[in-house]
Amino acid sequence: MTEISIPFLDMRSPYEELRDEMDAAYRRVMESGWYILGEETERFEQEFARYCGVKHCIGLGNGLEALHLILRAYDIGEGDEVIVPANTYIASWLAVTYAGAKPVPVEPIEATYNLDPSRVESAITPRTRAIMAVHLYGQPADMDSLREVAARHGLSLIEDAAQAHGATVNGRRAGSLSDAAGWSFYPGKNLGAMGDAGGVTTDDDQLADRIRVLRNYGSRVKYHNEVKGFNSRLDPLHAAFMRVKLKYLEEWNARRKALAGRYLEALADVPDLILPHAPRWADPSWHLFVIRHPERDALQKHLTEHGIGTLIHYPIPPHLSDAYREMGYKQGDFPITEAIHRTALSLPMGPHLRTDQLDRVVDAIRLFR
Ligand SMILES: *Cc1c(COP(=O)(O)O)cnc(C)c1O
Repeated sequence: MTEISIPFLDMRSPYEELRDEMDAAYRRVMESGWYILGEETERFEQEFARYCGVKHCIGLGNGLEALHLILRAYDIGEGDEVIVPANTYIASWLAVTYAGAKPVPVEPIEATYNLDPSRVESAITPRTRAIMAVHLYGQPADMDSLREVAARHGLSLIEDAAQAHGATVNGRRAGSLSDAAGWSFYPGKNLGAMGDAGGVTTDDDQLADRIRVLRNYGSRVKYHNEVKGFNSRLDPLHAAFMRVKLKYLEEWNARRKALAGRYLEALADVPDLILPHAPRWADPSWHLFVIRHPERDALQKHLTEHGIGTLIHYPIPPHLSDAYREMGYKQGDFPITEAIHRTALSLPMGPHLRTDQLDRVVDAIRLFR
């Protein structure tokens, strides 16, 4: 086995860069004697809502719960349909399934990997209640067109913003581009906790209130349970860590953007390679830098042999996963999605990737075949 000298994602350096502030946040929470919800969580909620440009943030246990509770708060369930991308991480679908509704997959625009608004319109039925757009890899979905479709049909528009912290559409941040956005603060995301965490951002007062009740056993007042709720609360310890990291999100996203620009320039003339494409109205968060190559598996092996870590996002689309066998989909049902899943490869990317490391990745790709 070749040793991986350039990791796909450097998970340790964020702590090392911010060690003093992170350690101070840890001590502050430990010494407070308060470990569920409370002031630290509320402060993070206010700061992240302000960052996204919305009125509310509700801190939750993880990203899957965030999407699930949005649907619950809209009373979407049994007999309802929710349009989801065929091309996404399975969590987007699972949230719909957990709510009791049916995920209706729609193919992406091949150049951007994100929901195709015209195909969304064709998939709407009398049972459709919502459209869930995913900003996949941190590339914003075409929210302006999707908002028009949603408005025309009286549907809720939801963002799965789990990969899009700081991404913008026409200058407006992800999380403010729909009726409600679900966030993941999984450690590897652009804004990550030191464990599982998630949240919802929205301008809708009533929706925010319902999600606050749902996350805390269905109660507003302790032991008075209004509805059958859940336990999904953002821990103050994670909130405190993320209050530190949020201050650096813009700077770290700028580093990602510079690295993405360097990859795009250096790889532009490599034959058979498809590079990410951002429309003019979009400023991606560059959560992942995903290329496509017809011989993806051989390229991945080649890069591993050169000590370069890569990942595949994702090897199996949800409609072909064992988890969704009961829906009866087969190979060929979503050809654009399947082609992306067959050829996509994520290169090393993150705020702590050095340019000399990136240049070595580029050199190794150039040596392929
Ligand atoms: C990470 C992710 C999620 C789920 O987030 P968790 O916090 O891991 O539950 C949902 N959707 C997408 C697109 C993601 O990347």
